[in-house]
Amino acid sequence: MSDCLFCEIIQGTLPANKVLDETDILAFLDIRPIHAGHTLVVLKKHTENLLTTSAEDLRTLVSVLPKLCQAIQKAMAADGINVGINSGQSAGQIVPHLHLHIIPRRASAGARHWERGEYADGESAKTAEAIRQALKNLP
Ligand code: 5GP
Ligand code: ZN
Repeated sequence: MSDCLFCEIIQGTLPANKVLDETDILAFLDIRPIHAGHTLVVLKKHTENLLTTSAEDLRTLVSVLPKLCQAIQKAMAADGINVGINSGQSAGQIVPHLHLHIIPRRASAGARHWERGEYADGESAKTAEAIRQALKNLP
């Protein structure tokens, strides 16, 4: 897609440090890493976010995770890995071409956790029911 940063990297018009180049998938280093080795994985086909990507394309995207995670953890001498997707602006998605973040972690750097909340009485059951209903009503 024109005007898409990651499509430009895929087409080779914008440089990137590529780590894996397969028929449908490209993986390259994030230009502003959370930790060195922070890698982005994209489908070569432009698709914006989780809601606009088919299950089949998502399977293709995640299929490279086992080998990429092993290689990144080993190469960076890391003890763990975070894998994440920011889908939608409110979730922190800045580049509107779906991508996985693979972030190598070291115990010495300290684990970072998200702040957690608590459900009020009955709220958890209602929430689960709302999601079950939404699942039933999907097209
Ligand atoms: P998002 O917030 O959309 O999930 O993440 C986008 C990621 O793309 C960010 O971590 C950012 O550092 C990275 N990024 C933005 N522009 C470029 C670029 O031109 N090249 C590379 N390699 N990464 C980029
Ligand atoms: Zn794109």
